[in-house]
Amino acid sequence: MERRGLTILYTGNGKGKTTAALGQALRAVGHGFSVCVVQFIKGRWPTGEAKACASLAGLEFHVTGSGFTWKQSPEESRRAAEEGWALAEGKIMSGAFDLVVLDELTYVINYGLVAEGRILEVIRRRPPGVHLVVTGRDASPALVREAELVTEMREVKHPYAEGVKAQPGIEF
Ligand code: ATP
Ligand code: MG
Repeated sequence: MERRGLTILYTGNGKGKTTAALGQALRAVGHGFSVCVVQFIKGRWPTGEAKACASLAGLEFHVTGSGFTWKQSPEESRRAAEEGWALAEGKIMSGAFDLVVLDELTYVINYGLVAEGRILEVIRRRPPGVHLVVTGRDASPALVREAELVTEMREVKHPYAEGVKAQPGIEF
Protein backbone atom coordinates (compact mmCIF):
# COMPACT_ATOMS: atom_id res chain seq x y z
CA MET A 1 0.00 0.00 0.00
CA GLU A 2 1.34 3.40 -0.92
CA ARG A 3 1.81 5.69 2.03
CA ARG A 4 0.12 9.04 2.06
CA GLY A 5 2.22 11.67 3.78
CA LEU A 6 0.08 13.79 6.07
CA THR A 7 0.54 17.36 7.20
CA ILE A 8 -0.34 17.44 10.89
CA LEU A 9 -0.69 20.77 12.69
CA TYR A 10 -0.77 21.36 16.45
CA THR A 11 -1.72 24.93 17.27
CA GLY A 12 -3.60 26.95 19.92
CA ASN A 13 -2.64 28.71 23.15
CA GLY A 14 -2.76 25.70 25.48
CA LYS A 15 0.25 23.62 26.52
CA GLY A 16 0.96 20.42 24.61
CA LYS A 17 1.89 21.27 21.03
CA THR A 18 5.62 20.52 21.07
CA THR A 19 5.19 17.53 23.37
CA ALA A 20 2.47 16.11 21.08
CA ALA A 21 4.82 16.46 18.11
CA LEU A 22 7.59 14.69 20.02
CA GLY A 23 5.19 11.91 21.01
CA GLN A 24 4.33 11.47 17.34
CA ALA A 25 8.05 11.33 16.52
CA LEU A 26 8.63 8.70 19.22
CA ARG A 27 5.80 6.56 17.89
CA ALA A 28 7.23 6.75 14.37
CA VAL A 29 10.75 5.81 15.57
CA GLY A 30 9.22 2.73 17.20
CA HIS A 31 8.09 1.57 13.76
CA GLY A 32 11.59 1.99 12.37
CA PHE A 33 10.77 5.30 10.66
CA SER A 34 13.54 7.74 9.99
CA VAL A 35 12.62 10.98 11.78
CA CYS A 36 14.01 14.50 11.70
CA VAL A 37 13.05 17.18 14.24
CA VAL A 38 13.82 20.84 13.48
CA GLN A 39 13.09 23.37 16.24
CA PHE A 40 12.89 26.97 15.05
CA ILE A 41 13.26 28.94 18.26
CA LYS A 42 16.41 28.20 20.19
CA GLY A 43 15.98 28.83 23.92
CA ARG A 44 18.59 29.55 26.56
CA TRP A 45 18.88 26.05 27.99
CA PRO A 46 19.23 22.68 26.30
CA THR A 47 15.80 21.07 26.56
CA GLY A 48 15.02 17.59 27.86
CA GLU A 49 13.96 16.56 24.37
CA ALA A 50 17.28 17.68 22.86
CA LYS A 51 19.18 15.60 25.45
CA ALA A 52 16.98 12.52 25.11
CA CYS A 53 16.89 12.61 21.31
CA ALA A 54 20.68 12.79 21.11
CA SER A 55 20.82 9.14 22.17
CA LEU A 56 17.90 7.94 20.05
CA ALA A 57 18.82 5.96 16.92
CA GLY A 58 16.70 6.80 13.87
CA LEU A 59 16.08 10.38 14.94
CA GLU A 60 17.96 13.52 13.97
CA PHE A 61 17.45 16.60 16.15
CA HIS A 62 18.28 20.17 15.14
CA VAL A 63 17.84 23.44 17.01
CA THR A 64 17.89 26.52 14.79
CA GLY A 65 17.32 30.25 15.30
CA SER A 66 19.61 32.16 17.59
CA GLY A 67 17.68 32.72 20.79
CA PHE A 68 15.05 35.23 21.69
CA THR A 69 13.93 37.17 18.66
CA TRP A 70 13.16 40.36 20.59
CA LYS A 71 16.85 40.64 21.55
CA GLN A 72 17.99 40.51 17.94
CA SER A 73 17.89 42.92 15.07
CA PRO A 74 15.29 42.06 12.41
CA GLU A 75 18.18 41.17 10.08
CA GLU A 76 19.64 38.68 12.57
CA SER A 77 16.24 37.07 13.12
CA ARG A 78 15.65 36.79 9.41
CA ARG A 79 19.07 35.30 8.75
CA ALA A 80 18.64 32.73 11.55
CA ALA A 81 15.18 31.79 10.28
CA GLU A 82 16.48 31.50 6.70
CA GLU A 83 19.23 29.12 7.86
CA GLY A 84 16.73 27.05 9.83
CA TRP A 85 14.31 26.87 6.93
CA ALA A 86 17.07 25.94 4.45
CA LEU A 87 18.02 23.06 6.74
CA ALA A 88 14.39 21.92 7.10
CA GLU A 89 13.70 22.21 3.38
CA GLY A 90 16.74 20.06 2.61
CA LYS A 91 15.65 17.38 5.06
CA ILE A 92 12.06 17.34 3.76
CA MET A 93 12.95 17.30 0.06
CA SER A 94 15.77 14.72 0.44
CA GLY A 95 13.17 11.98 0.91
CA ALA A 96 15.53 10.43 3.48
CA PHE A 97 13.02 10.98 6.29
CA ASP A 98 9.61 9.39 6.80
CA LEU A 99 8.55 12.10 9.23
CA VAL A 100 9.82 15.65 9.74
CA VAL A 101 8.77 17.76 12.73
CA LEU A 102 8.82 21.55 12.21
CA ASP A 103 8.51 22.78 15.79
CA GLU A 104 7.42 26.43 16.24
CA LEU A 105 7.30 26.98 12.46
CA THR A 106 4.22 29.21 12.83
CA TYR A 107 6.41 31.97 14.36
CA VAL A 108 8.67 31.97 11.32
CA ILE A 109 5.59 32.59 9.17
CA ASN A 110 3.79 34.98 11.54
CA TYR A 111 6.81 37.24 12.06
CA GLY A 112 7.38 37.29 8.29
CA LEU A 113 10.89 35.82 8.67
CA VAL A 114 10.43 33.46 5.71
CA ALA A 115 7.70 34.09 3.13
CA GLU A 116 4.69 31.87 3.76
CA GLY A 117 4.40 31.08 0.04
CA ARG A 118 7.86 29.49 0.02
CA ILE A 119 7.00 27.28 3.00
CA LEU A 120 3.67 26.20 1.51
CA GLU A 121 5.39 25.34 -1.75
CA VAL A 122 7.79 22.95 0.00
CA ILE A 123 4.89 21.36 1.90
CA ARG A 124 3.09 20.79 -1.44
CA ARG A 125 6.08 19.66 -3.50
CA ARG A 126 7.64 17.28 -0.96
CA PRO A 127 8.02 13.58 -1.78
CA PRO A 128 4.51 12.15 -1.34
CA GLY A 129 5.28 9.70 1.47
CA VAL A 130 6.80 12.23 3.86
CA HIS A 131 4.71 13.00 6.96
CA LEU A 132 5.06 16.50 8.43
CA VAL A 133 4.20 17.72 11.92
CA VAL A 134 4.03 21.50 12.37
CA THR A 135 3.59 23.24 15.72
CA GLY A 136 3.12 26.75 17.07
CA ARG A 137 0.50 29.23 18.21
CA ASP A 138 -1.68 31.24 15.85
CA ALA A 139 -1.34 29.08 12.75
CA SER A 140 -2.16 31.14 9.66
CA PRO A 141 -5.37 30.40 7.73
CA ALA A 142 -3.35 29.14 4.74
CA LEU A 143 -1.42 26.68 6.93
CA VAL A 144 -4.68 25.43 8.47
CA ARG A 145 -6.08 24.92 4.94
CA GLU A 146 -2.95 23.08 3.83
CA ALA A 147 -2.88 20.60 6.74
CA GLU A 148 -5.03 17.46 6.70
CA LEU A 149 -5.01 17.06 10.48
CA VAL A 150 -5.34 20.10 12.73
CA THR A 151 -5.66 20.01 16.51
CA GLU A 152 -6.01 23.15 18.58
CA MET A 153 -4.72 23.00 22.15
CA ARG A 154 -6.97 25.24 24.22
CA GLU A 155 -5.90 26.47 27.61
CA VAL A 156 -8.36 25.51 30.32
CA LYS A 157 -5.93 26.03 33.22
CA HIS A 158 -2.19 26.60 33.44
CA PRO A 159 -0.21 26.84 36.73
CA TYR A 160 1.60 29.88 35.28
CA ALA A 161 -1.50 31.87 36.27
CA GLU A 162 -0.82 30.82 39.91
CA GLY A 163 2.76 32.03 39.65
CA VAL A 164 4.30 28.57 39.15
CA LYS A 165 7.48 29.03 37.10
CA ALA A 166 8.60 26.83 34.21
CA GLN A 167 9.97 23.50 35.53
CA PRO A 168 12.55 21.17 33.96
CA GLY A 169 11.03 17.98 32.64
CA ILE A 170 7.64 19.68 32.28
CA GLU A 171 8.14 22.91 30.34
CA PHE A 172 11.58 22.37 28.80
P1 ATP B 1 4.93 21.99 25.37
O1 ATP B 1 6.33 22.26 24.83
O2 ATP B 1 4.93 21.81 26.83
O3 ATP B 1 4.19 20.94 24.61
P2 ATP B 1 3.71 24.06 23.80
O4 ATP B 1 4.60 23.64 22.71
O5 ATP B 1 2.24 23.86 23.59
O6 ATP B 1 4.12 23.36 25.17
P3 ATP B 1 4.56 26.80 23.41
O7 ATP B 1 3.49 27.71 22.93
O8 ATP B 1 5.57 26.31 22.43
O9 ATP B 1 3.90 25.58 24.20
O10 ATP B 1 5.26 27.54 24.62
C1 ATP B 1 6.47 27.12 25.12
C2 ATP B 1 6.53 27.22 26.63
O11 ATP B 1 5.44 27.91 27.21
C3 ATP B 1 6.52 25.86 27.31
O12 ATP B 1 7.39 25.93 28.40
C4 ATP B 1 5.11 25.68 27.76
O13 ATP B 1 4.98 24.82 28.88
C5 ATP B 1 4.72 27.07 28.12
N1 ATP B 1 3.28 27.25 27.94
C6 ATP B 1 2.50 26.64 27.03
N2 ATP B 1 1.22 27.03 27.13
C7 ATP B 1 1.19 27.93 28.13
C8 ATP B 1 0.13 28.70 28.74
N3 ATP B 1 -1.12 28.61 28.31
N4 ATP B 1 0.48 29.57 29.77
C9 ATP B 1 1.74 29.65 30.18
N5 ATP B 1 2.79 28.94 29.66
C10 ATP B 1 2.51 28.09 28.65
MG1 MG C 1 6.03 24.54 21.56
